[in-house]
Amino acid sequence: MTLVCDILVRADMILTQDPLRSIVEQGGIAITGNTIMDVGDWESINARYHAESTINLGNSLIMPGLVNAHTHAAMTLLRGVADDLPLMEWLTKHIFPVEQHLTAEFVELGALLACAEMTRLGTTSFCDMYLLEDATYSAVDKAGLRILGGEGIFMFPSPAYPNTERGFEIVRELHDKWKNHPRIAQSVMPHAVYTTTPEILTRCRELAEELDIPLNIHLGETVTETEQCLKAFGKRPVQYAHDLGLLSPRTTIAHAVDLTDAEIDLLAETGTVVAHNPESNMKLASGIANIPYMLEKGVKVSLGTDGAASNNALNMFTEMTSCALLHKVRCMDPTCAPAQAVLDMATIGGAAAMHRTDIGSIAPGMKADIIALDLNAPNLLPMHNPVSHAVYAATGAEVRMTMVAGQILYNDGKFLKIDYPSLVSEIRSLRDWVRGKLA
Ligand SMILES: [Zn+2]
Repeated sequence: MTLVCDILVRADMILTQDPLRSIVEQGGIAITGNTIMDVGDWESINARYHAESTINLGNSLIMPGLVNAHTHAAMTLLRGVADDLPLMEWLTKHIFPVEQHLTAEFVELGALLACAEMTRLGTTSFCDMYLLEDATYSAVDKAGLRILGGEGIFMFPSPAYPNTERGFEIVRELHDKWKNHPRIAQSVMPHAVYTTTPEILTRCRELAEELDIPLNIHLGETVTETEQCLKAFGKRPVQYAHDLGLLSPRTTIAHAVDLTDAEIDLLAETGTVVAHNPESNMKLASGIANIPYMLEKGVKVSLGTDGAASNNALNMFTEMTSCALLHKVRCMDPTCAPAQAVLDMATIGGAAAMHRTDIGSIAPGMKADIIALDLNAPNLLPMHNPVSHAVYAATGAEVRMTMVAGQILYNDGKFLKIDYPSLVSEIRSLRDWVRGKLA
């Protein structure tokens, strides 16, 4: 019996990231609407399904779209404004002063640029914490990506609100406004322990429980954060967060650098997800998260770039390379952070950070979020092992097609949802505004 689907996609190789980590040569994928119906060798898929259209990608590697588990999309506007500084000085003297002047219009443009960059480099979903997050959702709505976002909650005013009380109202309003959007989901996002109070963090947890949505926070990023937390509350950040009930399967913590082994055990026991940001941690010299120990203890680990002001790219391919190399040299052991474990962080781990079970792999019932890499690219020849190439050889430049929810967003050099030439001119014209705020 022939089944009907919307699209059949064919390629030389499919890296599925399914539970068996299957790799299919001469593969095909059947897609209907936003969902993958079937995946297998092309001959059997083609015999089983009749499709309205067939996309033959030829010498390409299809793999799940990558998940950027922690970023601040609109910070693309601040890319390169201040480098080579420690976190607290960088944040308080260079980033916060510009951010206080941000408007919804600017945030949407910055987020749209981030969406273009991620789409071009094979990222299909991302977790985002920022100011005026409604504007980021508008950008994501246009660009076609998938997001778990949240308005950053601080104990001081932000460009989005005059006081924290209003911040909480905005979280509810955004939840009501976007909750039925197929690609936009929301989380409660207190910024960090050093920018909130115990009362604010408790309210954040209660709100996340009431709305039954995730909670994201920066936690254990630097030794300075730990010292400040000890001074203010007499506890290290992870214990402090745990005592306020924040650690749970609902929660994703970004960074998790300055942690003791006992604190990592606590993350494992509570089911808390970690978003690891190796390049941002290297650039700000924040330290190295003990990812091998987290993986050994069964902590769910995902991978993120952090914002473009501290990375400075939103490139999950180079982030995977950095991740694998960093842990090898830290452990002085080349078997540390093997390619498959790192690819898992950027796909399946990312799905855990988004608190979803329908993304991160190519299998029946999963969302049709897939990317294709050009296997004629010189740095991907010859093909012995696609997992190795994805982590160690690919740079993102080989991405020739990006699809989210069955919709093609980027194909052979062209953005299909974003008016890229006009975005470029708008971003260029914003440069002088950003410089003016830095003076
Ligand atoms: Zn961050």
